[in-house]
Amino acid sequence: MSNANHNHQLGADYGLDTWRNLHIDQQPTWANHADFDATVAELSSLPPLVFAGEVDSMREQLAEVAEGRAFLLQGGDCAETFEGATAYKISGRIKTLLQMAAVLTYGASMPVVKMGRMAGQFSKPRSSDTETRGDVTLPSFRGETVNGFEFTPEAREHDPKRMLRGYHTSSATLNLVRAFTKGGFADLRAVHQWNRGFTSNPAHERYEQTADEIGRALKFMEACGVDFDALKTTDMYVGHEALVLDYERSLTRIDSRTDLPYDTSAHFLWIGERTRGIDDAHVDFFSKVRNPIGVKLGPTTTAEDALALIDKLDPNREPGRLTFITRMGAKNIREKLPPIVAGVQAAGAQVIWVTDPMHGNTISVPSGYKTRRFDDVLDEVRGFFEVHDALGSFPGGIHVEMTGDDVTECLGGSDAIDEEALADRYESLCDPRLNHSQSLEIAFLVSEYLRNR
Ligand code: PEP
Ligand code: MN
Repeated sequence: MSNANHNHQLGADYGLDTWRNLHIDQQPTWANHADFDATVAELSSLPPLVFAGEVDSMREQLAEVAEGRAFLLQGGDCAETFEGATAYKISGRIKTLLQMAAVLTYGASMPVVKMGRMAGQFSKPRSSDTETRGDVTLPSFRGETVNGFEFTPEAREHDPKRMLRGYHTSSATLNLVRAFTKGGFADLRAVHQWNRGFTSNPAHERYEQTADEIGRALKFMEACGVDFDALKTTDMYVGHEALVLDYERSLTRIDSRTDLPYDTSAHFLWIGERTRGIDDAHVDFFSKVRNPIGVKLGPTTTAEDALALIDKLDPNREPGRLTFITRMGAKNIREKLPPIVAGVQAAGAQVIWVTDPMHGNTISVPSGYKTRRFDDVLDEVRGFFEVHDALGSFPGGIHVEMTGDDVTECLGGSDAIDEEALADRYESLCDPRLNHSQSLEIAFLVSEYLRNR
C-alpha cells in the first residue's frame, strides 16, 4: 500500500475526512485540475515538516501560558513569498523575534514562547474572489501556494503544484530556523548582535540599553558559576493560518508514538476569522488533530460563539490546546472583548488570550495603499491589557505582522512614516507589516504592561 493510501485509509478512523462533506469557504478551485491527484499523493508521501514530539513540547509550554506563567510571541509576514525565502530575510525576521523576546523576557521576568508566523504562511483568505484593474477582472491573489501575484490570467490560475513548492520552501525555511536557534545564533550572549538598526533611532537605542543590562546580568551569573547551557540555544516554533485543507490534510499523519493524528505542516495552526464557522469544515478538521489550535476572533464574535468553539476544539479543557487570537480594532476592543472573556470565565474554560492588534486596524489611504496607523496598533494592545486587567484574566500573548526589514508599510512610529513615505518601501503582497523599529517599540510597550501587572 502506498503511503498516500495508508494515510487515507487511516483518515476514516479518525474522522479526518469528514470536513469534505461540510460547508467550506475560501478554497482554491482546483479539484478538477489535471495535476491535482498526483500532487496530493506526492504531498501525502513526503516527510513531515515537524515532529509530533516537538508539537507536544510546545503544547506543554503553551500550558504554562494558559496558567499565566509564560507569554506567547507570534510574528512574521502577512503572506510569505517563495522569492522572499532568502537567508538574509529569514535571519532578519528571526533576529527581530529574538530581540522582541529578549525585551519581553527581561522586562517581564517571564519565559517567552517564540513562534514565527513563517515556514508555511502561504495562503490568504480574501474578501473578494476577483480583482478588477481597469476593464480586466481576474481571480484574486490567494497566496503563493494557490496562485501568483502577477496580474495575468496565467499567474492567477489556481495551480495545485504550487502546494509542493510551498512545502519545499517551508522545509528550507524551517531548516534555517532550526539551524539559527540551535546552532549558536540565538545564544543570549549574542544579544547585541541581533540589533539591526542605527542607534540614532530611539527604539534601537533603547534596545542597546536593554542588551547592556542583559549582558551585565549574564556576566554576574557567569561570575557566580551559573551553568549557561540553557542560554545557548532556544526553541522557536512555527505556525500559519491553516486555510487550504487539501494541503493540511495531506500533511496530517498518524504519530507512531501515540497513534494520534498531527498536522505536521507546522507546530501551531490557526483558523482565520473568515473560516471559523462552528459547523464548517475548518473547525471540524482541526478538532481532530492533536496540535495546539488558534482561532481568530473579530468584533462580531459573541460569548456563545467562543463557548461553542471551546466545546468543539477543546472538549477536555486541556491548558495549551486552544488559543483565542482577538483582533477587534482599537475602537472596539474595550467594548467587544469583555463580554467574551467574561463568558469564557463563567464557563470555567481556560484558553490562551492573544492580541492581534493588526487586523482590526487596516485602512486604505487615498494613494491606494492598505496601511495601519501604528498608534491604533498600540492602542489595541493597551486596550487588550486594560480589559484583561479589569477581568483578572491573563493577557497571554501578542500576534503581529512584522519583518526585520526597514519597510514603510505602517504609518507612524519613532521614524514617523507618513502617507507620502509609504511608497518608499512598501513590499508586502498583502497586509502592511511593522518594520524593525516598530516591532521593537511594541515589545517595549508590552514588556512594561507585563512588568506592571
Ligand atoms: C491574517 O492573519 O493574515 C488574517 C487574514 O487574519 P484574520 O483571519 O484575523 O482576518
Ligand atoms: Mn494579514
